[in-house]
Amino acid sequence: MIPTSLPGQPHIHYANGQLHVEACPLDALASAHGTPLFVYSKASMLDALAAYQRGFAGRNAQICYAMKANSTLGVLQLFAQAGCGFDIVSGGELARVLAAGGDPAKVIFSGVGKTRQEMREALQAGIGCFNVESEAELDVLNTVALSLQMRAPVSIRVNPNVDPKTHPYISTGLKGNKFGIAHERTLATYQRAASLPGLHVVGIDCHIGSQITEETPYLDAMDRMLDLVAAIEAAGIPIHHIDFGGGLGINYQGDTPPPADALWAKLLAKLDARGFGQRKLMIEPGRSLVGNAGICITEVLFMKPGEQKSFCIVDAAMNDLPRPALYQAFHQIVPLDLHKQAQPGAPVYDVVGPVCESGDWLGHDRPLAVQAGDRLAVLSAGAYCMSMSSNYNSRPRAAEILVDGEQAHLIRARDSMADQLRGERLL
Ligand SMILES: *Cc1c(COP(=O)(O)O)cnc(C)c1O
Repeated sequence: MIPTSLPGQPHIHYANGQLHVEACPLDALASAHGTPLFVYSKASMLDALAAYQRGFAGRNAQICYAMKANSTLGVLQLFAQAGCGFDIVSGGELARVLAAGGDPAKVIFSGVGKTRQEMREALQAGIGCFNVESEAELDVLNTVALSLQMRAPVSIRVNPNVDPKTHPYISTGLKGNKFGIAHERTLATYQRAASLPGLHVVGIDCHIGSQITEETPYLDAMDRMLDLVAAIEAAGIPIHHIDFGGGLGINYQGDTPPPADALWAKLLAKLDARGFGQRKLMIEPGRSLVGNAGICITEVLFMKPGEQKSFCIVDAAMNDLPRPALYQAFHQIVPLDLHKQAQPGAPVYDVVGPVCESGDWLGHDRPLAVQAGDRLAVLSAGAYCMSMSSNYNSRPRAAEILVDGEQAHLIRARDSMADQLRGERLL
């Protein structure tokens, strides 16, 4: 029995037997806008943000939404209006922040491979901080800043070497990852940064991984970071802010990450106990702000029963929902019509898309009682779905709707064929 409200997704629920996002019935949205269709709950995004804001009440803290999780302008605008800054990883993301009305002074720029052009654009926009990931990047940033007669504000991303206990592709704070500066090299790297005239050291940064569901890796990383701050300051280099990155997980399949406010109560207690409670804090949450605020509606095209495996072929695919193909990720899949839910003992199907790849699957061995023409919702699709989507197989990228109560705002139109062909030329 599918409960009428879905775990971890209070604004996505069944009413009158039909799945709704807030007060909008999804079947009507799918009929009006077509499928596949992403639908997000504004209240759910703001609730997720509020958990962090409660956690930081009375503190000097800045929440920088890690926008690679979902970088659609309407989503950025919502977070900008709610006071967020942004964690960006490219010049394109900076342009999106500016187009959405975000404050460049609240932007931090992460990533191992910033180009000189991206550094220039970010300096000219007046971003708050560059999170520098290598000694070579320090030197280049120094040169670029001097050429503009500017000083670049920098943090160094350190690699605290803690195991976040998550999927290897989304674990980033262990030795052997491409990210950050090794723990042992940190002090020397800070001394180098402080000696360069085009740089101004403002903080320290880490980000240990994604979809983290335990507190221990965070508490361990915090201890290691504070040890480093003490050592760097003892060498005469003040650290104005401490950035703990993002990575807090969400409930995809019975996962039980700590709530953001409860996690931060423990982290702040540790900061206080170690005498760093007054320090400015920054965080870079992505998935935990948007992941469970979104679903993707898809229509069943064909049922294809087989001797070994049966398939439910739907009109969404790996180009829309890349996480299963990329990380064997699990998304819950439910019918829009509550009466079409599978009863115990129902036959199981692999839910697959039309793309010509065996990796194009959305769910394995799912009990289903739907037929062609019925609609399904792929849950927990607000993060790392649309922002990772592509036009593979010349499929149009899906439309996106942001729901606010009874109102449904189209925040991105489905690609037209002209969108797909723009920029291409015949010989
Ligand atoms: C991806 C990323 C984040 C956000 O991670 P989530 O798991 O989505 O919270 C934060 N900081 C950096 C540097 C990242 O690369």
